[in-house]
Amino acid sequence: MQTRAVEIVTIGAGIAGLSFARTMAQQGHKVLMLERSRAVGGRCATWRHMDLAMDYGVPFLHGRSPLFWQTVDELIGADVLSGWPYRVEGEGPTCQPRALDPAVRHAALRGGLNSLAKKLAEGIEIIRECEVTGITIHDGQWQLSGEGFLVTADTLVLAAANAESLHLLKDSILAEAASGARALFGLTQSLTCLSLLVCYDAPPSHPAWDLLLPETSSSIQLISNESSKNAQSQKLSFCIQARPAWSRQRLNSSTDEWTRELLYEAAPLLGDWSLKPDWLRPHRWLEARLDSASRLRGPLLQDIAGCKLGIIGEYFDPAGGLEGAFLSGYRLATLLMETK
Ligand SMILES: Cc1cc2nc3c(=O)[nH]c(=O)nc-3n(C[C@H](O)[C@H](O)[C@H](O)COP(=O)(O)OP(=O)(O)OC[C@H]3O[C@@H](n4cnc5c(N)ncnc54)[C@H](O)[C@@H]3O)c2cc1C
Repeated sequence: MQTRAVEIVTIGAGIAGLSFARTMAQQGHKVLMLERSRAVGGRCATWRHMDLAMDYGVPFLHGRSPLFWQTVDELIGADVLSGWPYRVEGEGPTCQPRALDPAVRHAALRGGLNSLAKKLAEGIEIIRECEVTGITIHDGQWQLSGEGFLVTADTLVLAAANAESLHLLKDSILAEAASGARALFGLTQSLTCLSLLVCYDAPPSHPAWDLLLPETSSSIQLISNESSKNAQSQKLSFCIQARPAWSRQRLNSSTDEWTRELLYEAAPLLGDWSLKPDWLRPHRWLEARLDSASRLRGPLLQDIAGCKLGIIGEYFDPAGGLEGAFLSGYRLATLLMETK
């Protein structure tokens, strides 16, 4: 059993957790991050195939916060494709309301959105493939456990998606002490999303759009032209994202079944040739994003039996989405430093 004792520990190295840890590090505080996956970034997810980097979670960055964009520009520099999606077809709803509002800056990243997560993670200690399955308080300290490890800490920051965070607060002592936080999570509504990456080696043509928002499709919310973020590639690749209700209804269907259905739904929009991709990768996001009605004004910071508990993520900032996740992490770090 590996044991560690630290001052501050974070569960989850998505954008919220990384933004928190980076802000703390800039002020000279070390944070240990525990991440279930091999990669950092969570739903800011990019898959690499041949010479293509394809986003299969959030498809592009958007937001109004100067701090958010200053960080993106500073970390990514010339690889920020400012203004992407340049060409939008269709009037269907975007994932986040006002994502394409002319007053809101938007951008993709050459190399995939996950490169933002990787840059935020530089210099931070992250234990990957480390799933926390139990949290409790013992002798005035947090105790986090999982397969083969035990971490104790004074301050715990929960930066997992909402249902996952709620599940982690199930221990009987915590369930009572953190009842306020649990009640807040109960108010959120997560939206499911089935997403499908497809790639064509020798397409007959490339579409004249970067983002397609079909109004009439009952299944497809959007198709992003991932290859348009990678100008040098001759291949054509898309990420097809299904609508929340359609995705929810198919959670128990086999992957082959819903993949086939999505390809058939996309064919009238793309052309019959699109029915036979050279490569594909389906992904099931159980908690893709929150219903936009479910947002709080700021991160949660609570004292439980003398131990500090911080909770962050897209729900904990009015901006919501990825920008909200980033800002919630920054704001929690600021709050914590004020209380030190
Ligand atoms: C298909 C899709 C489309 C989207 N579209 C948009 C959009 O258009 N605009 C927008 O702004 N946002 C969009 N989003 C939402 C956006 O991606 C999220 O709001 C944002 O990335 C959330 O970041 P986070 O750090 O709060 O959570 P996450 O990214 O979920 O990070 C949480 C991390 O915690 C880890 N974790 C969870 N449980 C444990 C555990 N027990 N132990 C250790 N680690 C754990 C996870 O592995 C994960 O890495 C989309 C998301 C998806 C999936």
